[in-house]
Amino acid sequence: MAVTPSNSLVHIVFRRQLDDVLLFNKGTSSITYDLVQTLRTYNLADYIASYVNTDTIPSKLAWKSLIRGSLQDVEQRKWSEMLSMKKANRYHNIQPHLTKNIIYDTMERNIHMRSHLQILIKILSVPENYYLPMMCELCNQVVSDSVEHIFMRCEQLVDQRNTLWDGLLDRFGVSAEVDLFNREDGDILEILLGKKWSYLDYDNTNDIDNLFMQVAGSMNNFIHSMKVDNRYQKDSILQHLTVMKIVL
Ligand SMILES: [Zn+2]
Repeated sequence: MAVTPSNSLVHIVFRRQLDDVLLFNKGTSSITYDLVQTLRTYNLADYIASYVNTDTIPSKLAWKSLIRGSLQDVEQRKWSEMLSMKKANRYHNIQPHLTKNIIYDTMERNIHMRSHLQILIKILSVPENYYLPMMCELCNQVVSDSVEHIFMRCEQLVDQRNTLWDGLLDRFGVSAEVDLFNREDGDILEILLGKKWSYLDYDNTNDIDNLFMQVAGSMNNFIHSMKVDNRYQKDSILQHLTVMKIVL
């Protein structure tokens, strides 16, 4: 624990502001109030009491460790709750822990594909079955999962989809393609959107970038095909993706 210089002006002002916040619930527009609220949010409020009673705070190094741990715990819980409330099971399957999204790394390395890769990241967060039912404006089928329909099922997007399979075959080989095709549609889609896949070398950024850029390019082709044939029906897939701010 580090001892603060209790006779310094900064210390005196801070203690007065802290009293305003803790005892009188005043000073709600002060930095001190924001600090207290933040500490409360991350379950670190006990350290305020400790500071008030003993004038001591943990060392800078200890603070860093405490904050990192608390922030991770709280944000992980909030993130999991958010995912479960919106039933975004796909995202949860792909990335069960709160970490930087793998597609985001590809985007940082390939700025020229930024807009296409952003669409993939947004697609991850589309809640499954959130807007039911959806009409596919290409094949006129009512679908329950618009993202899976576009990627895996729509009969009017076979040519665009084959371009994706051909690209993956060239890059990852026959056994990887066979592995993919032996899986359920939903499972294949999750791999295309970032779920761990044994055929992908995660130490090889070229491999990773190649996969996501091919998938992003295909998604752009799918959306482009929908726009070409778009009748903008209410409750259409394109309308759905527009509402979710995936297509601008
Ligand atoms: Zn369709």
